[in-house]
Amino acid sequence: MQTFLYEKTVVVTGAAGFLGSHLCDVLLESGAKVIGVDNFITGRAKNLSHLESNQHFSFIEADVNTDPTTYLKDVKPDVVLHFASPASPPRYQEHPVETYLVNSYATHLLLSFLTEHAPEARFLFAGTSEAYGDPSVHPQPESYWGNVNPNGVRSCYDEAKRMGETVCGVFNRDFGMDTRIVRIFNTYGPRMNPADGRVIPNLVMQALKGEPMTIYGAGTQTRSYCYVDDLVSGILAFLVHPDLAGETLNIGNPEEFSILETADEIAKVTGSDEKVFESLPSDDPLRRQPDISKAVSLLDWKPSVSFSDGLTKTIEYFKSELM
Ligand code: UDP
Repeated sequence: MQTFLYEKTVVVTGAAGFLGSHLCDVLLESGAKVIGVDNFITGRAKNLSHLESNQHFSFIEADVNTDPTTYLKDVKPDVVLHFASPASPPRYQEHPVETYLVNSYATHLLLSFLTEHAPEARFLFAGTSEAYGDPSVHPQPESYWGNVNPNGVRSCYDEAKRMGETVCGVFNRDFGMDTRIVRIFNTYGPRMNPADGRVIPNLVMQALKGEPMTIYGAGTQTRSYCYVDDLVSGILAFLVHPDLAGETLNIGNPEEFSILETADEIAKVTGSDEKVFESLPSDDPLRRQPDISKAVSLLDWKPSVSFSDGLTKTIEYFKSELM
């Protein structure tokens, strides 16, 4: 059990999302009193249904782009994890305004609220590997500033996440707040929305339905996939560390696969290996791999779930979603 979290009041925005719901679970296991907030723009109530009778969990349906003094009235958080945001490229491009607001303005609103009502609170921001854009440095260390198209189709997400980092930096340096930024690389696992449009849900659902797997472009672009349990344990280790205020850490699994290799790994588990090629969306990064040496040296953490084991568990979950 993490003693830092014991009996602490922890607010998780985006609690009904894939990562938010897993974070609620590990925070509760660590003895925290968790308040989940979500407006269900992409989150799903079923991701939290198992917590309905948990006395240490409560839920507030609210849009975090509004003043926190309304939806967090009388709450004095010890910790806030800001994970609210559409996160898959098709979904954030469907909700561009909500996406740039929640990552920039809502970060400002939450930190302003904490500065006034709970200045000792710890704030963890869900940053992203998309901050590196289409990277010219490979793998990507935290010190790399990225190669992002500021007016591209992904910018409502990646530039807003970068702005969110800016807000965290200002509140840390100028107002003395304990802000931390985790740059999250591609993550997969149970509770991902099978319809969210990302590569793993798309290809797995297609394979399970006996349809060809859609490969965008030539499929030579790469991603490095982290199983959700590994990601969440890394985030928790970062959150509870006593000395990492103001830090930025990559969390992910450096094992790198081309999209064609990803499809082949999925085919090994599902037995369905048909592929169809479609055009590559604009600004699709050619490669992505985290350099996690900073997190490994600062935290007692490294990812341990292999892609094949993680896929097997994830595919079981997607099968249950089909029933
Ligand atoms: N992709 C694909 N087929 C799909 C969905 C995605 O080939 O059905 C590719 C996409 O073009 C990208 C990679 O898989 O190169 C990862 O896409 P995803 O949407 O999962 O997230 P990203 O890492 O691009 O944010």
